[in-house]
Amino acid sequence: MTVLDNLEMIQSNIFQACERSNRRTEDVKIIGVTKYVSCERAREAVDAGVLHLGENRKEGLLKKRQAISDDKVNWHFIGSLQSRKVKEVIDYIDFLHSLDRLSLAKEINKRAKKPVQCFVQVNISGEESKHGLQENELEDFVQQLKHFDKIKVIGLMTMAPHIDNEQEIRQIFRRLKEWQTDIQEKKWDHAPCTELSMGMSNDYQIAIEEGATFVRIGTALVGKDE
Ligand SMILES: *Cc1c(COP(=O)(O)O)cnc(C)c1O
Repeated sequence: MTVLDNLEMIQSNIFQACERSNRRTEDVKIIGVTKYVSCERAREAVDAGVLHLGENRKEGLLKKRQAISDDKVNWHFIGSLQSRKVKEVIDYIDFLHSLDRLSLAKEINKRAKKPVQCFVQVNISGEESKHGLQENELEDFVQQLKHFDKIKVIGLMTMAPHIDNEQEIRQIFRRLKEWQTDIQEKKWDHAPCTELSMGMSNDYQIAIEEGATFVRIGTALVGKDE
């Protein structure tokens, strides 16, 4: 399948999920996750009209950025970021989806030339394999981020477990939305928290019904090499 075929299918699914939940399609952005595929395939996505690309490793990000030097592309770092790698990636990304500790915030603050739009990652499912803050740590953490002028908390991010139970997945997304509302009500200047990064190839329609504004789609959009 071409990326364009896949994109049209995904857009139609997004349209329907928006209809079901009374939302506007403009409020949902697709991040094409290109970590499994070549620079050529990533370029195909950009040519098809995908304006947001996501990578989860330093090497992949830098390689794709070099191959695709197109000003209209927004670059998202979606994987967990080791503090020692911050200086190599921070000025090459527009969005970070995995802010989950103060030591990372501190390093970003030290290295970034301009403010970074960050999602705070929350581990709602409680799976040990997942990164992110526990729910009971979230508010304090976001509040503490006011001390870092290079960090702008534009939203929250979570990953649902790989399960078939739609209800369980939905509950996780719904809970992230509740936390977003909670933080928005604080009206903290550094944390407008207008965005929700949730939903991947398997569950993006559910995520959109529950309020996602960015869906991170890899396999269903660009496929998976080897
Ligand atoms: C790989 C990855 C995705 C995309 O996964 P697919 O199931 O292929 O859509 C989304 N988010 C994160 C954080 C990822 O690591």
